[in-house]
Amino acid sequence: MQKKVIIIGAGIAGLSAAFYSRRAGHEVTVYEQGNCPGGVSTSWIRSGFTFDGGIHWLVGSSPRLQPFHKRWLETGALQANNPVVYADPVFEFRSGDVTLRLWRDIDRLTQELIDFAPEDRKALLALRRHVKTVSIYLLDGQGINGWTKRIIGLPVFVPLFFRLQRISSRLYVERFKNPNVKEMLSSVLNLEQNALSLFGTLAGYYIGDNGFPTGGSRRLAKNMEKTVLQAGCKILYHSKVEKICIDGNHVKGVMVNGCMQPADYVIVAMDTCTALRELFDQPLQEKWARKLSKGIDSEQCSLFSLGVKKNLSYLPSTLRIHLKEPVRMAGYEYTTLWVYHYSGQDGYAPEGCSSLTVLFQGDTYDYWKKAKDDGSYLTKKQEFVQEAQKLLTAYLPEIDGCVVATDLATPVTYERYCNCYRGGYMSIWHAKQSPFNVPIKSKSVQGLRFAGMRTLMSGGLPVSVQSGYKAAKSL
Ligand SMILES: Cc1cc2nc3c(=O)[nH]c(=O)nc-3n(C[C@H](O)[C@H](O)[C@H](O)COP(=O)(O)OP(=O)(O)OC[C@H]3O[C@@H](n4cnc5c(N)ncnc54)[C@H](O)[C@@H]3O)c2cc1C
Repeated sequence: MQKKVIIIGAGIAGLSAAFYSRRAGHEVTVYEQGNCPGGVSTSWIRSGFTFDGGIHWLVGSSPRLQPFHKRWLETGALQANNPVVYADPVFEFRSGDVTLRLWRDIDRLTQELIDFAPEDRKALLALRRHVKTVSIYLLDGQGINGWTKRIIGLPVFVPLFFRLQRISSRLYVERFKNPNVKEMLSSVLNLEQNALSLFGTLAGYYIGDNGFPTGGSRRLAKNMEKTVLQAGCKILYHSKVEKICIDGNHVKGVMVNGCMQPADYVIVAMDTCTALRELFDQPLQEKWARKLSKGIDSEQCSLFSLGVKKNLSYLPSTLRIHLKEPVRMAGYEYTTLWVYHYSGQDGYAPEGCSSLTVLFQGDTYDYWKKAKDDGSYLTKKQEFVQEAQKLLTAYLPEIDGCVVATDLATPVTYERYCNCYRGGYMSIWHAKQSPFNVPIKSKSVQGLRFAGMRTLMSGGLPVSVQSGYKAAKSL
């Protein structure tokens, strides 16, 4: 029977939940506080340059990684207008005179690193072995052969899984003796994530996944929005949900602009942590909710973007620049710059120009929030921009004198536009922590569902799209 479903948030999780709820025959309305789809996975235009503040690699971009790929196709996220690019090397690591490359092929990667640092041979061979083991379990079934491999591999995989889950990536990389190999592997992803996340990522590259859909975050989100609208859902922008209305143990609807909007089901597809803190009159009486409402460790970044009047397409599309000395900015010590450029991709920059982004990854929320509260936010942003530009120019002298536009999005920016807890955009899956975080279906309130990045560690786009699907299926 057709039910009335309200979805809070038109991020990737909300769009996915909308599409699948509609496909199940329900009447669907999405309320989004902002003015566009995509949530934190978005891009914006400044002085003719597009700055992408979301996707860098998409898990499930390849059909080899199911069920995520299926979700991206079904929701219209991946279409003919955004073919996936699989950059190889994934990134180039630079440290002084040293250049190392993160190849997708684990054999090539480890061989080059062994040639460079024979002292790490043993550890690198183990890394190769483990990436190959993990990759068997990422791959789609691959018929009888694939399943046989999985079953035979279980005695190796199970203990490996728990070993990697028990240590942080930071601790894992400590085993490498060569400082450059250590730094390069440290810059694959956030070091606070457990080592399983690191291996999952390397295995994803190895099996030919983790690509970048051309057009980036905005095109992918727009594709999903179009699919959702064509399916017959309503999306209402500039519509912030103020409260979830609950009567006894039944959800009744949501409050938007002071008006009650009735529904049989409400799917919370905004940051669950914020929702628990802001949208319930009475705290949700579930153990996980009491825990999550206290806060959660998240990945955060200050995204510094530059419009450069120069064609930089000769540079690798992703660089990890290891700094000679750590630099303290916004109260955080940075050792490596994550630099992305979009030359060669249409729509990112005017002819002959390049759009660059630099990810300053780290928890700087308190610094920016304090600045916001005491009125020094804009001045501090300007200082950060100047310092960041000077720093980047020291390592990429070719941009000197060519920068015509700059922009900075801080965790406070992400919080303001997307209402995400402390400006975080995915959770940190710490060592020894359970991967499960938020149940899709509330046990205490009938009709209440949850989707989005917090549902499964460590979050990110695949978790959002898959949890939207699961929330819709549970109606
Ligand atoms: C710089 C950066 C790089 C990233 N790189 C990657 C990557 O390479 N790969 C990857 O997998 N992930 C990446 N991520 C993470 C990924 O983008 C997010 O985890 C994912 O997009 C989260 O989607 P979501 O729908 O769960 O939540 P959100 O994107 O937070 O969507 C929630 C939506 O709800 C809306 N909302 C909030 N409160 C309300 C309210 N009260 N009423 C109405 N609407 C509301 C918000 O405005 C937002 O649109 C990156 C994120 C960033 C910022």
